[in-house]
Amino acid sequence: MITLRLNHQQHAFLQTVVDRDAHLGDIGDLVRAALQDAPAHALAGVVRPESPAPPRRTPVREHILEPGTGKAFEVSAGQVVRIAQIEGHQCVDLNVFSLSDRRERLHAGRTRGMQGPHPGPGDVLWSNAPWERPIMAITGGTASTDTQFPFCSRLIYSAFFGLHDRTNCQEIQNEAQREYGLDPWDLHESLNLFMHTATGPGGEAVIRRNQARPGDHLELVALLDLLVVPNVCGDDLSNCSNFGLRPVRVTIEEGRGEDARSARAARDRAVVLGLPRPREIPGPRPLRRDPGYMAAFPHLPLRAADVRVELGEALAGRFRRARDTTLYGDDDAAALRDITLSWAIERLGAFAGND
Ligand SMILES: [Zn+2]
Repeated sequence: MITLRLNHQQHAFLQTVVDRDAHLGDIGDLVRAALQDAPAHALAGVVRPESPAPPRRTPVREHILEPGTGKAFEVSAGQVVRIAQIEGHQCVDLNVFSLSDRRERLHAGRTRGMQGPHPGPGDVLWSNAPWERPIMAITGGTASTDTQFPFCSRLIYSAFFGLHDRTNCQEIQNEAQREYGLDPWDLHESLNLFMHTATGPGGEAVIRRNQARPGDHLELVALLDLLVVPNVCGDDLSNCSNFGLRPVRVTIEEGRGEDARSARAARDRAVVLGLPRPREIPGPRPLRRDPGYMAAFPHLPLRAADVRVELGEALAGRFRRARDTTLYGDDDAAALRDITLSWAIERLGAFAGND
């Protein structure tokens, strides 16, 4: 016997696949079919050097983002925000707004256009028109980033998975930024942190299995006073976060002279020949915390919904050959969940193109 460790959302998805497939009687049948089809070394991993420890600075605030949640942080110009993996494999969506005017916010498209699809250390994040200026500088870290994929939303899970009530970045962001009076339509395209993307056979962008390790992080210096809103991606049905929701650490620290110099160098490199003259934008709408805010994230708590499966000797052997120690280490449960959910998603025809 082997245990397939799931949460109730993943269980509901697998039950949907079983209900639509005449060849499958229950989730145990689905697991056995997935293992029967699993090629040897199906779970590729990349061995990379350990992530170097971040430099010492004066701490301002630290917060653990729990699965299914996000948080809005006020960050003053010059302070450093670090977003770091605890367990690894977790994608994070990042929204950023100007504290002095909620209408100015991170523009993922402009950032992609100016810095390329995967901004990293030495790049800046740009705001929307008519401001269009660097608002944060990435000064260090080991995280992969992406600007090509929109946040996961209620739509995605309804359209592709038939699930109408489950965690998603759209609703998590909405709830986190409600603390500062931002409305549901104040969501902008996220900067995707720790997302591993590549180019597919037709030249299209595809999401690959998440390679983030414990300690991987990204450091960003605020170039103006900001509201920075990261959230743990609500997607536990794709390789984006390797079929799980895991906690992430957010740290805000006072910037050192070295951080200011790195931020200035990134800004100067991005701007090259200067910015257009700032225009007077009437009626600024500053952001203020709602003192009565009580966080109420939807779709929580996530409940365990494990399934015990009888494998037999032959399928147990296939599982041993399929799992890859570089990606999941000795975590058999994570490997089995990946093989099973990957197979089910391909069977359903959802999210074609990812692997
Ligand atoms: Zn998401």
